[in-house]
Amino acid sequence: MEKIVSLCKRRGFIFQSSEIYGGLNGVWDYGPLGTELKNNLKQYWWQVMVRERDDVVGLDGAILTHPAVLKASGHVDTFTDPMVDCRTCKARLRADQLAEKNGARQCPNCGGKDLTEARPFNLMFQTQMGASADPTSIAYLRPETAQSIFVQFKNVLDVSRKKLPFGIAQIGKAFRNEINPRNFTFRSREFEQMELEYFCRPEQGMDLLAYWLKERIRFYEEIGISRKRLHVLDVPEKERAFYSKGTFDIEYEFPFGRQELEGVAYRTDYDLQQHIKASGKPLDYFDDETKERFVPHVVEPSAGVDRTVLALICDAYDEDSAPDEKGKMETRIVMRFHPRMAPIKCAIFPLLRNKEALVAKAREVQALLRPHMNVFYDEGGAIGRRYRRQDEIGTPFGVTIDFETLGEKGEGLRDTVTLRDRDSMKQERVGIKDLPQLIPSKIR
Ligand code: ATP
Repeated sequence: MEKIVSLCKRRGFIFQSSEIYGGLNGVWDYGPLGTELKNNLKQYWWQVMVRERDDVVGLDGAILTHPAVLKASGHVDTFTDPMVDCRTCKARLRADQLAEKNGARQCPNCGGKDLTEARPFNLMFQTQMGASADPTSIAYLRPETAQSIFVQFKNVLDVSRKKLPFGIAQIGKAFRNEINPRNFTFRSREFEQMELEYFCRPEQGMDLLAYWLKERIRFYEEIGISRKRLHVLDVPEKERAFYSKGTFDIEYEFPFGRQELEGVAYRTDYDLQQHIKASGKPLDYFDDETKERFVPHVVEPSAGVDRTVLALICDAYDEDSAPDEKGKMETRIVMRFHPRMAPIKCAIFPLLRNKEALVAKAREVQALLRPHMNVFYDEGGAIGRRYRRQDEIGTPFGVTIDFETLGEKGEGLRDTVTLRDRDSMKQERVGIKDLPQLIPSKIR
């Protein structure tokens, strides 16, 4: 994990937020490469979950949330972690993370045994709307994206004219005042979720739960996460929310242990019923064919963007060996991102930076490829070093413009380049004009 965290900073994937002021605990900023990686993930999720389906539409709800919404959903009253204070070192600790010695509770920081009783601590961030500071101006930063989907269910149903089963999808920020943010970005206080609420008839719920679990596993495989590091936990009844008839956690083997990436839960009609009761508004569905009116049930695949980005990074990290400038084998760090997820798809290198014709040709290739993919131009340093820098950030392809390209080694090779594959390190000679079709065909 240390190597991964250090690579993330060194190469601009992830930085500690407000770092120059000592950092803000549990909050992270994505650098240039991290932003590309995260965008690729979110775009691919949106592509397969919304655009490629007839039965899902999107929503982009507000972050600031009316307290009544979160009262009805249960978050105001029950979205809590039990907390204990250590009177010796003043640390605030999660009750389930206390150390134990000879049956006695102990502070994991100082070993002190003078601890308070456990008290509930609400994980929501509260803020004030408008100038007045009275209790009626309280709003919350949403702790999950799902609630705006439930609250807007009727509006979306009316405008989209969808028939059951159908879903509403959303990607966006969520905020939880986690007591103990840890494991890099895994448990953050500000994070992003990708959630689908898939509404159905009650009798379809269990089948759709199995269906979505399968779909979601396939998604992780398609973005290049190895199946052998993914695990499915069938959450036992006593650990599920009381309204859930079935929940699966999709877990990933992180270097710090097996942890949840996504929850796929059959939530019955709990959420819509809660909002019907609290708002007094009808959030039901009328079936034209059977002439029945009822409240739909819902299956929810709920994934974390940041956790998936972290899983992508952990899964991609590899070390092998490659020859250096003098042909001596050295350790190579290589991020084996699936080309679909890689922040940069193709790097473009003129063999020498001081040869004008090579540089001009390389710039031409850059302009040719730019509309098709994210490319990166690099003319600095020995070519082997430039390859290595791209391997370290997971760029799957490299194009080198050399003297053959200029026609100096025979007319037959004019306007051809070498295309290098990150994983095999093999190079093939291809025509420049073929690159805009050839590289995308290897990415998809
Ligand atoms: P955990 O048990 O790990 O706290 P959870 O079961 O509370 O997670 P959900 O409420 O099911 O999480 O949220 C759905 C998804 O949102 C999680 O699977 C995870 O990917 C992401 N998520 C939740 N909390 C955090 C967090 N603090 N930091 C980053 N991602 C999070």
